[in-house]
Amino acid sequence: MNHAPTDRPTVVLVYQRTSLPWIFDSALRAGVDLVLVPRPDEDVDPERLPPAVVEVLRLDVEGTPAEALAALTERHRAVPFDGIVTLYDPAVPFVADVADALGLPGLGGDVARTVQDKRLMRRRLADAGLNVPGFATVDAPEDRAEAARLDFPVVVKPANGFSSLGVTKADTPEELGAVVDEVWQVCASKLGRVTGLVVEEYLDGPELAVESLAHEGRVHVLSIGYKGEPVGPYFEEGVYRAPALLPPHVREAVVREVVAAHAALGVTDGPTHTELRLRGGERPYLLELGARVGGSGVSHYIAHHVTGVDLAAQALRIAVRLAPVLPPTPGQLAPAVGAAANYIVPCGGSGRIVALHGLDEVAKDPRVDHVVQMLHPGDVVRPYPHFTGYPAFVLSHHPSTEDAEEFHRFLADSIRIDYAPEGDTQ
Ligand code: ADP
Repeated sequence: MNHAPTDRPTVVLVYQRTSLPWIFDSALRAGVDLVLVPRPDEDVDPERLPPAVVEVLRLDVEGTPAEALAALTERHRAVPFDGIVTLYDPAVPFVADVADALGLPGLGGDVARTVQDKRLMRRRLADAGLNVPGFATVDAPEDRAEAARLDFPVVVKPANGFSSLGVTKADTPEELGAVVDEVWQVCASKLGRVTGLVVEEYLDGPELAVESLAHEGRVHVLSIGYKGEPVGPYFEEGVYRAPALLPPHVREAVVREVVAAHAALGVTDGPTHTELRLRGGERPYLLELGARVGGSGVSHYIAHHVTGVDLAAQALRIAVRLAPVLPPTPGQLAPAVGAAANYIVPCGGSGRIVALHGLDEVAKDPRVDHVVQMLHPGDVVRPYPHFTGYPAFVLSHHPSTEDAEEFHRFLADSIRIDYAPEGDTQ
């Protein structure tokens, strides 16, 4: 389907699920048209396209990237587009390559590969003098002598993973072999290929997520949120509440670390989602920096409510070289004007889902803006390490972070999933 060209810039949006609405709404506000490349497993009804989408282009970006690049090159030659973005982490290098090939704004293929490869990322951060836990790389499952010399506990993870897939804690050197074998095997079956693992010392302390926008080398830190204090051995995501309640000196240390990480990794333009842990409750250690709007758009929801900055709209404007509207103080944390939260409904068991109780009532709560349900009755949930996805997100806004905390306690009591054994189809 092709629409008449408009005078609005056009951005190709790669692998965004249409059930996650934020980027589409932001595109409308940014004055940008979208060409949507849907996930291969998603049907998109041409009669009911999301806001701002003017065209749907089907490409197999992960399966046949060279063909997908050729198709985009051809599309660009016929009707030029102005930018290309993704919120889907595995597609970040592909999008950077397309931007490089077509002369569009982008991260650059090298930077995209550095932020995506946890081995390269750790080395870059260490070289820049940032806080980095002791780490070792494992290039083959039996090659773990260096990792065994780290301080335990350690965390074993795929070098190119996402969504905590395969990320597992090993408490002792004796456990390491079995954990490495398990992570290797899980990743081989879920990611298709394993390029290697990273083993790093376990960082205790609260986990934080930081939403930022970089523009021309200046980093605008929009919000710092609290992500719980997961202890493993598997790291299922749980809560996200922003702004995090932190003493001013810790907040400043987090901002300094995040800004310095952008410089160390070479991320000068675009949105980022950084995860850190606060060792001893004080000292920020970066876990990863995603060079994209995080959480398939959840990061936009959080930052927008906390600061008033339309994160995804500004990201789209940067992607087409339009001037973004940003807080006036680069290098500093934007002031908070409210609080926002995401509650990931815990699986709370495994098997075939029979019923999900409480979500309909929660959706009617005036504090709740979105309930995104990913799993439904009939779906099978397997416990980690065989991650099968999160049941649902509840996104809500609040006058303060304390109110968000109280609301999450209420959700923990209100939402329940009933399971039957996996083979049971009743
Ligand atoms: P992914 O990119 O797959 O999400 P991460 O490196 O972000 O992988 O790890 C996923 C989660 O595992 C983190 O959010 C954190 O809770 C936990 N984790 C990872 N590395 C460490 C570490 N070194 N110390 C403590 N927890 C960790």
